[in-house]
Amino acid sequence: MVAAKYNGEQFEANFAKAMPDFRAIVGDKWVANDKETLFSYRAADSAMDDEVFLPSAVISPGSVEEVQAVVRAANIHKTPLWPISTGKNYCYGGPAPRAKGTGVLDLRRMNKILEINERQNYALLEPGVSFLDLHRELRRRDTKLWVCPAAPGWGGVVGNALDRGVGWTPYGDNYAAQCGMEIVLPNGELMRTGMGALPNSKTWQMFKYGFGPYIDGMFTQSNFGVVTKMGIWLMQEPPVVNSPLTKSGLADSV
Ligand SMILES: Cc1cc2nc3c(=O)[nH]c(=O)nc-3n(C[C@H](O)[C@H](O)[C@H](O)COP(=O)(O)OP(=O)(O)OC[C@H]3O[C@@H](n4cnc5c(N)ncnc54)[C@H](O)[C@@H]3O)c2cc1C
Repeated sequence: MVAAKYNGEQFEANFAKAMPDFRAIVGDKWVANDKETLFSYRAADSAMDDEVFLPSAVISPGSVEEVQAVVRAANIHKTPLWPISTGKNYCYGGPAPRAKGTGVLDLRRMNKILEINERQNYALLEPGVSFLDLHRELRRRDTKLWVCPAAPGWGGVVGNALDRGVGWTPYGDNYAAQCGMEIVLPNGELMRTGMGALPNSKTWQMFKYGFGPYIDGMFTQSNFGVVTKMGIWLMQEPPVVNSPLTKSGLADSV
């Protein structure tokens, strides 16, 4: 999230100076730089030594306002941030940042399902909502709506869509199924895409394109912002399903 030329040692030094600000914003409890915590954010699937991709700290904001304040502080101190939604991007580095002197911005505390609309078939989610969370909530409500997780349900809807991941139903292209994002920009400002850009819009999760240029793709596999809300279209249960999982009852047991 920082435009400065990359210098790992300099960024590590900057990070030390930024820590008191991060602690003041999110609270001591939600900023960690002890070895054990950092180690749990390593790239366990990497062939490199664990130390190579260890973050300098982990910051866990609990609200959009805290994300904005953390991003502003990171700008002041010139410290790069690596946002994760559920941090389960295994086989692609997991939750680990790619560069020394980077802080992980862990969004798992922001895990509310803000809306499930059974008439228009969508959900509005915070980044920390996992596929399993959403699946369980849809089953609890006894809806006919489905999530479309990546092969394993361990990851999150927002992180997977932002990485342009895929599931295996007709709604499996998770980025294609996203409709409307809220984003904290690198200067800390908040922006909504699509119809969300219009005041009092009631169709944010129904019409992706809004007015003017369509820019949502800019925030996928990129470092142009931290996504703090996302709409996702959900598939209606089809009349018939032919799958070994449903036959065995396994699909309902998770
Ligand atoms: C055995 C196995 C099978 C797998 N099968 C599949 C599969 O079928 N389909 C598939 O798609 N993947 C698959 N994966 C990869 C991976 O597990 C999933 O894609 C998983 O959903 C990604 O983790 P996540 O959702 O927690 O994303 P995260 O780790 O949270 O994030 C993914 C990426 O998006 C960025 N990002 C996350 N949140 C934000 C945010 N709020 N703002 C800005 N940037 C953000 C992160 O920096 C990161 O680069 C598989 C992995 C394994 C090991």
